[in-house]
Amino acid sequence: MIRFALLGSGSSGNAMLVSSPGAKILIDNGLSYRQLSMRCDDLGLSLDGLDGLFITHEHGDHVRGAGILARKMDIPVYMTRDTFAHLPKGIGKIRRTAFFESGEEVNVGDMCVGSFSVSHDAVDPVCFTVACGGCRIGLATDLGRDSALVRARLSGSHALILESNYCPKMLENSAYPKAVCQRILSNQGHLSNPDMTSLLAKVLHDDLKLVVLVHVSQENNTEERAKEMAARVLRNQNSSARLVVAAQDRPTPVFEIAI
Ligand SMILES: [Zn+2]
Ligand SMILES: [Zn+2]
Repeated sequence: MIRFALLGSGSSGNAMLVSSPGAKILIDNGLSYRQLSMRCDDLGLSLDGLDGLFITHEHGDHVRGAGILARKMDIPVYMTRDTFAHLPKGIGKIRRTAFFESGEEVNVGDMCVGSFSVSHDAVDPVCFTVACGGCRIGLATDLGRDSALVRARLSGSHALILESNYCPKMLENSAYPKAVCQRILSNQGHLSNPDMTSLLAKVLHDDLKLVVLVHVSQENNTEERAKEMAARVLRNQNSSARLVVAAQDRPTPVFEIAI
């Protein structure tokens, strides 16, 4: 059994709490300690007993609150060596580091956390799968494009947490500077709604129970647009998977995946 919730999702801060009967981890922490605790409280969850923090990449929206959380709770921070070397100085000292190489699996209690490389403008960006007792969830956020590797690592997941960052039409008309738009659009930027639908269509299978769309831009997308695009893919393939969009300013419900 795996339980998880997105505590915040988007360019102002990401954090995802994942627990199993024998382990509890946080993936990324771009939220302040106060926000993180308040949002856990709102869901009836606790940070007590947290076994570690896993970091996807060094961008501020994924690590802003990493240092303070790791020091307060005295937990190890799991990341690649290159990510550690490029963490923003502002997050302060990380006392307990636990390095892995992209592609490796790390066991935490009864949980197996797998990592895989993604294409994004960070030094060594990864995404994660978490498996426990036959259940498996797959996270793919902050990637400019999908790849055979991404699809292979997500395949067979009972829950998918997928980036659906921008609507191409909205980005085209956006007030963002041209250079920023180019970065978002590039292969090392973010996944658009159509990119997300093509990835979802390729990894969809009969045992998929849940899709959570994440990192939805507040300027260049809407929850409704992203949701409608994913819903269409699920409908076309007669999938009964539940579909939820994670928001920036509030946590998702707690999801429980059991098979
Ligand atoms: Zn991000
Ligand atoms: Zn990023």
